[in-house]
Amino acid sequence: MTLLLIGVLVALLGLLAVLQYKWLGQISVAERQTMQTNLRTQGRGLQEEINKEIELAGSRVRMSLSDYRKDSWGELIERYSRWKANTTYPGLIKSVYLGRADGDGQFNLMILDESAKRLEPSAWPDSFADIRRRFAPKRRSYGSATERQERKEREEVRSIGSLIEHGYIAEDIPAMVRFLVEFARMEEPKNPAERERQKAETIETIEQSPLAIIVLDLDYLRQVFIPALFKRRFTIDGSLDYDLAFVYRKAADEKSEKAARGSDEAHSPSGDLAINMFPGTGSAEFNHGPRWQVVINHRAGSLDAAVAQARGRNLVVSFGILSLLALSTIIIIIISRRAQRLARKQIDFVAGVSHEFRTPLAVIHAVSENLADGLITDKQQIEQCGVVIRNAVRRLAGMVEQVLEFAGASRGKTLYQPQPVDLGDLIEKALAGNPSLESQQDWKIEREIEPNLPPVLADPAALASAVRNIIDNAVKYCGAGHWIGIKANARATNHTQRIEITIADRGIGIPESDLPHIFEPFYRGREVVAAQVHGNGLGLSLVKNIVEAHGGTIAVSSVLGEGSSFTLSLPAANGNLNKA
Ligand code: ADP
Repeated sequence: MTLLLIGVLVALLGLLAVLQYKWLGQISVAERQTMQTNLRTQGRGLQEEINKEIELAGSRVRMSLSDYRKDSWGELIERYSRWKANTTYPGLIKSVYLGRADGDGQFNLMILDESAKRLEPSAWPDSFADIRRRFAPKRRSYGSATERQERKEREEVRSIGSLIEHGYIAEDIPAMVRFLVEFARMEEPKNPAERERQKAETIETIEQSPLAIIVLDLDYLRQVFIPALFKRRFTIDGSLDYDLAFVYRKAADEKSEKAARGSDEAHSPSGDLAINMFPGTGSAEFNHGPRWQVVINHRAGSLDAAVAQARGRNLVVSFGILSLLALSTIIIIIISRRAQRLARKQIDFVAGVSHEFRTPLAVIHAVSENLADGLITDKQQIEQCGVVIRNAVRRLAGMVEQVLEFAGASRGKTLYQPQPVDLGDLIEKALAGNPSLESQQDWKIEREIEPNLPPVLADPAALASAVRNIIDNAVKYCGAGHWIGIKANARATNHTQRIEITIADRGIGIPESDLPHIFEPFYRGREVVAAQVHGNGLGLSLVKNIVEAHGGTIAVSSVLGEGSSFTLSLPAANGNLNKA
């Protein structure tokens, strides 16, 4: 029945474990998808914010055609200074250049000196070579049909077109490149003559407008600007689960990556998400693909690692709970089986004690009947009857004593009063108290008591009871060998002196399987029960209780068929050797 129950419980726990494992797996997959989607959304948001701030900064470096024609830079410088004073990210722009065609068709460069509030001539830096070539005024021949057909010019034409609206970002500098002069937005006129007029005006503006080259501070972008936006967007409940990295890809990398993937999607050279740092219109085209990428990675190493980590944690917790459940079930089963065994033992004990009482009572009954009926008149016979009755009463009294002692010890009520006890005396009294030793002459008792043995520190009655129990067992289980050896000596251990008392017999011995149990209450050797040797299984458990309550130990060694030897070790009355 119990085994069936255990089987069912184990099967149920196994089933739960499997289900748990499976479902946690499914939860992980869903979790992975949610995290991925959130990451993408946040990444897009971050990209938009970066773009917005850069756009905003760039939009300050613009002026109307009329102002430009007045040739006054005041408004431009004013606008730029105002932006710098009000923006959260004033470090975004490192320097502002203007490229302008002068009268003789030269493409000259000027740099804005903010503190002096004016524009100074500047040499073309090497990094601007591409811009200088691409936007030299003579090439801005947007409207020329013949040139437009030339294949070589096509790229530049497209560049100019894109530049009109938003400008673009030359990522290798990096710098925002745009026309300084704003173009008026208007509806495409219906009238062809008007359309032509507008077109001509636009071309004129393009040809005249200086080129604004707004150099962005890459270090500031990487160390301050993007990390700040990133932190604001990715911090949830005060914790930041992602790390930020920047990658610059060369055109060659891009090509090989595309070939390897076989697709055109520009993403993830590494990490959980890679977004383009400068996503503005036209930038990809001008730079031959995105250059700077912001790579976002989960702190656990990757999203997969984070999900695996969370799954591992969940698995540990749920399996921990299941194991705890299993352990509790096992403990409950063990305890209930132990309780069952104890209950059975107690019933056996009651039956055993009653049986034990029956024999001496029957003896007393028979002898006293004979005496009462006057059947025994001979003085010697009357004396013998007296001895028989006395022994039976002693046995009964001994048993009652044991049961009471056990009940007291079980309730934890026994109070001992240790005092120095002379061992020699105690042993003699215990031997004298045993009726078998007294009546049977063929017993050989060997005593080996060390001379000048210090007294033992113990409660005299309790120690006497313990020694008597062991001697009684030696007599009870003597088999054919009527021999008892009693040894007592002092031994110094760990700065304290102890007295060892060994009581040995050459009796039936104890089977190895019984040895670990003989000190348990109610335990009786199987062979002893089968042979109907009287007893209740309490003796040795009481001895152990007494010895341990005195700070002592009890040990047994036995060889089946050869005999047993019990050794008690108790503290000596003079205690600490150092003090002695
Ligand atoms: P009881 O003697 O009443 O059975 P005890 O607690 O005194 O109970 O002993 C427990 C068991 O230990 C005995 O039933 C017996 O099997 C075994 N035992 C104890 N002492 C001896 C001994 N000297 N020789 C052989 N077996 C012994």
